[in-house]
Amino acid sequence: TSNSERAGPAAPPERAGDEPVRPMIEIIDVEKHFGDLHVLKGIRLDVPSGQVMVVLGPSGSGKSTLCRTINRLEPVDSGTIRIDGTALPAEGRALARLRADVGMVFQSFNLFAHKTILENVTLGPVKVHGMSKTAAEELGMSLLERVGIASQRSKLPAQLSGGQQQRVAIARALAMKPKVMLFDEPTSALDPEMVGEVLDVMTSLARDGMTMLVVTHEMGFARRAADRVVFMSDGEIVEDAGPDEFFSAPKSARAKDFLSKIL
Ligand code: ADP
Ligand code: MG
Repeated sequence: TSNSERAGPAAPPERAGDEPVRPMIEIIDVEKHFGDLHVLKGIRLDVPSGQVMVVLGPSGSGKSTLCRTINRLEPVDSGTIRIDGTALPAEGRALARLRADVGMVFQSFNLFAHKTILENVTLGPVKVHGMSKTAAEELGMSLLERVGIASQRSKLPAQLSGGQQQRVAIARALAMKPKVMLFDEPTSALDPEMVGEVLDVMTSLARDGMTMLVVTHEMGFARRAADRVVFMSDGEIVEDAGPDEFFSAPKSARAKDFLSKIL
């Protein structure tokens, strides 16, 4: 599962060769306040195409706000965010289209309670991409198979376990054919025995070359799947390192303190 192997012969064609990998997510000097609270303090971050970036940090450090600004669920005060070279427009249809490039999975699954599992997955492609119902169902079934849940397609979300619902939420996000997937503590609301099945789906996505930004407290996943670890504290990026480096030799006192509490 080591991502250092991804540049090898098995890498998808767009990553072969010596060409520099273009940033899929560019965050440039982003500032965000909530009233007097300075929540994002000049955040700068490039995530290259195909990279898995794990964001760690104590509660309240701005991790969720950062995720939400990346797809404009939350407007920024200043700064620029580009996805695959394109800045997100402030509003309108163009925003809806570009937002589809950024899949997001939250701690709470946010499935449509009165729609079936399959409908939860097909709704977006039909509404936003104008896909035919038949094509959307075909796509939906292939994604439900991918997350190992196709047999549950006719059930309602409440009939599924938390782990199954979160896998549906991942399939739903993938149905929009996103260029980037954001995960904000996707396993924090799950019973411990269901964490693994969700992390397995995320690991397989990472292996397939998806660009991912993952906020998590699952240190095993961070060590295993991350190409890079970013540590946030108090609205700032305090460290930005490979997982081995970060976990074995954190540089800042704040990261050391965080790790001593969580490990
Ligand atoms: P994290 O995800 O790292 O726990 P958040 O991004 O959720 O941190 O929050 C960062 C800070 O911003 C916290 O102090 C939080 O209370 C505050 N905050 C988050 N969302 C809002 C909001 N909508 N209005 C006011 N304050 C907020
Ligand atoms: Mg959060």
